[in-house]
Amino acid sequence: MLGLMQSQPMLISGLIDHAERHHGDAEIVSRRVEGDIHRSTWAGIAVRSRQVAHALDQLNLLFSDRVATLAWNGYRHLELYFGVSGSGRVLHTINPRLHPDQIAWIANHADDQVLCFDMTFLPLVQAVHARCKTIRQYVALCDADKLPPDSGIPGLVSYEAWIGGQPTSYEWPTFDENSASSMCYTSGTTGHPKAALYSHRSTTLHAFAAALPDVMSLSARDSVLPVVPMFHVNAWGIPYSAALTGCKLVFPGPAMDGKSIYELIEAEKVSYAAGVPTVWQMLLGHMKPGGLRFSTLKRTVIGGSACPPAMISAFNDDYGVEVLHAWGMTEMSPLGTLCTLKNRHLDLPPAEQMKIRLKQGRAIYGVDMKIVDGDGQPLPWDGKTYGDLYVKGPWIVREYFKGEGGDPLVDGWFPTGDVATIDAEGYMQITDRSKDVIKSGGEWISSIDVENIAVAHPAIAMAACIGMAHPKWDERPVVVVVKKPGAQVTREELLQFYQGKTAKWQIPDDVIFVEAIPLGATGKILKTRLREQLKDYALPAA
Ligand code: AMP
Repeated sequence: MLGLMQSQPMLISGLIDHAERHHGDAEIVSRRVEGDIHRSTWAGIAVRSRQVAHALDQLNLLFSDRVATLAWNGYRHLELYFGVSGSGRVLHTINPRLHPDQIAWIANHADDQVLCFDMTFLPLVQAVHARCKTIRQYVALCDADKLPPDSGIPGLVSYEAWIGGQPTSYEWPTFDENSASSMCYTSGTTGHPKAALYSHRSTTLHAFAAALPDVMSLSARDSVLPVVPMFHVNAWGIPYSAALTGCKLVFPGPAMDGKSIYELIEAEKVSYAAGVPTVWQMLLGHMKPGGLRFSTLKRTVIGGSACPPAMISAFNDDYGVEVLHAWGMTEMSPLGTLCTLKNRHLDLPPAEQMKIRLKQGRAIYGVDMKIVDGDGQPLPWDGKTYGDLYVKGPWIVREYFKGEGGDPLVDGWFPTGDVATIDAEGYMQITDRSKDVIKSGGEWISSIDVENIAVAHPAIAMAACIGMAHPKWDERPVVVVVKKPGAQVTREELLQFYQGKTAKWQIPDDVIFVEAIPLGATGKILKTRLREQLKDYALPAA
């Protein structure tokens, strides 16, 4: 017997319709490429997303055709999020930090038909457009009078001219909620990137789950600053959850330095911010010397790579801002876990609470997880046993776009490539990417733990721990560090700093000082590149 409730497909157009009707006057504030501040509302975004849909119809774009973006976080990008997917096309957000060859490869692989780009990326588009075989319309995200007269890009139009004369009403089509809505290529460190292809259903379910109180906890009372880019896993789904809840959105555009972010937080009364640790490092670095304070910021969700304990303490103890540590990945839309305390933790002493907060958190409803050994057998949830982390759920990939890489699942589970522990209360802690874990004398050393201790030292700005081949122990950890400007610390002092903070055999064998640590397109440390750079390095004799 079937239930007798209405069956209505969960479509992204429904999110923007809701935001317009119920939160039409909530503001969408953007710092533009030009540097000025632009103000719109959910109603304004809705109107212009319908104009985008008309512009795409005029190009005779078919259902599921791909529309690519190379763009910062801003109102025009938001309009494309809803106009492209709402009209049944697929939004393909390209990471502009990728190598131009990779961008051309991705655009061809995705069969992109249209490319909308911020003016920052004009030189990039000029460099790759001749190689992008399927793109038939280039759109510069700017006013008509800002369009360069001789860009060399055939048929280039300004976004404002492109959508300007279009009707403001549009009947969103109704279709199967399992249809593709957007796509994002993984920043694979080997071989070509592979694309996660999200659906209207997966995106809407993720938006619901992400908005829950123990997840992102978004509401119509919040002013939300997503610093996490809209070109990387849909800015963790915040644009969709924001439409669902009707919160105010504040977009930083290209200005992600500490000063610009701080000014925006204060000017727009931001209560909630989301970003990767490197961005917050810049923000805290800007605030400390001038003794600046937050007047409205209450919570910040930090993920994408492990949040160092020193950062959690700084936000919490020095600024009264709650840190929500999150974990996920492109293949998971991206949210998998989020770290919030349970009722029974509220009376624990701060040091005990901190131990929990450092973990990547509890699975959010919809995500099932397990840790397994090398034979795929489940391992205990005791907070100590390490294993390969597997996940499944309705917003986790089943297969990559065009079947690349074959069937990624193992008995229906997606192997994340992360190594983790899970404790008896279900809190998961990432110890490493499986290829980065250091195997020393039959035991595993977590590179994240080694890095966290290094960055807790006042002179260290950034640290990366890698395993080096060792004749007796198989591998031994070394820590590669970048000093803070003007700060001094010696190898011996840093090794001494590890004493008492971790088991003796987990203390690195050496410290290597470098000017910079290589980062990938999503701001994560490129350990493969680091290993190449250190291929001639030899461990000090014991
Ligand atoms: P991406 O698909 O580029 O977002 O990368 C996903 C990967 O980033 C995960 O598989 C983890 O290895 C890493 N990651 C994301 N969030 C965290 C976190 N909070 N702590 C540690 N690693 C993380």
